[in-house]
Amino acid sequence: MLIILLGPPGAGKGTQAEMIVQNHNLVYISTGDILRKAVREETELGRKAREYMDQGQLVPDNLVVEIVRDRLGEPDCANGSLLDGFPRTVDQAVFLEQVLPDINMQIDRVLLIDVDEEELIERLTGRRVCSDCGANYHLKYKAPKVRNVCDQCGGDLYQRDDDSLSTVKERLEVYKKQTEPLVEFYNKKELLSPIDGNQDIDGVYDQIKTILGDL
Ligand code: ADP
Ligand code: ADP
Ligand code: ZN
Repeated sequence: MLIILLGPPGAGKGTQAEMIVQNHNLVYISTGDILRKAVREETELGRKAREYMDQGQLVPDNLVVEIVRDRLGEPDCANGSLLDGFPRTVDQAVFLEQVLPDINMQIDRVLLIDVDEEELIERLTGRRVCSDCGANYHLKYKAPKVRNVCDQCGGDLYQRDDDSLSTVKERLEVYKKQTEPLVEFYNKKELLSPIDGNQDIDGVYDQIKTILGDL
């Protein structure tokens, strides 16, 4: 099974992904997480990607498709994967279509989580992330039990560099220009399931459960 999570930054893709992979036994693949790790570890990929990420721009397609091709080819992905944050351009989507037959996979569903812009800004600027396990929190909507400490592993929470207000606004523009065309792309292929992401975390997950339950 291959599920794709599509939606603007801050829509709640990572938050929902955590619940989906637990309940459906899927391997979670987030290109954002992989890129951030590369930046932290100062690998060649990380050095190339960093300036784009800091500015809220997309990392060039050729770098990102390599990551996904390699990851999807690993044996643990054979039972099913959840892609979060990929594809983000039409060219990436076309690439994905071309490699999937080679690894005997096809896209089962594209979940589009949509949220109003004001709410996206609120969610992104209040987001906090665990520096050890990557778990997501929000100052208001999903506060940790102890301030700045991860409920799951005790790690320190931090604010992502690109979650500052100015970079958030840039990322939302980039989404509209470069990623939103994928809505029509997957709609035409009858793979798209729109989800109202303005609801609370459980309300959004209920909609996803209904859609995935039919697969
Ligand atoms: P969010 O969860 O807020 O949508 P991500 O963690 O998915 O953000 O992505 C963070 C940054 O990593 C993006 O702004 C972009 O620079 C880079 N990135 C992640 N995935 C891709 C991709 N598929 N193509 C190009 N750049 C990407
Ligand atoms: P994305 O991966 O799409 O960028 P996240 O899952 O990281 O988005 O969510 C962005 C922020 O909003 C996080 O701080 C998260 O805790 C919070 N959040 C996620 N879903 C909801 C929701 N339905 N209602 C309120 N806050 C949410
Ligand atoms: Zn943690």
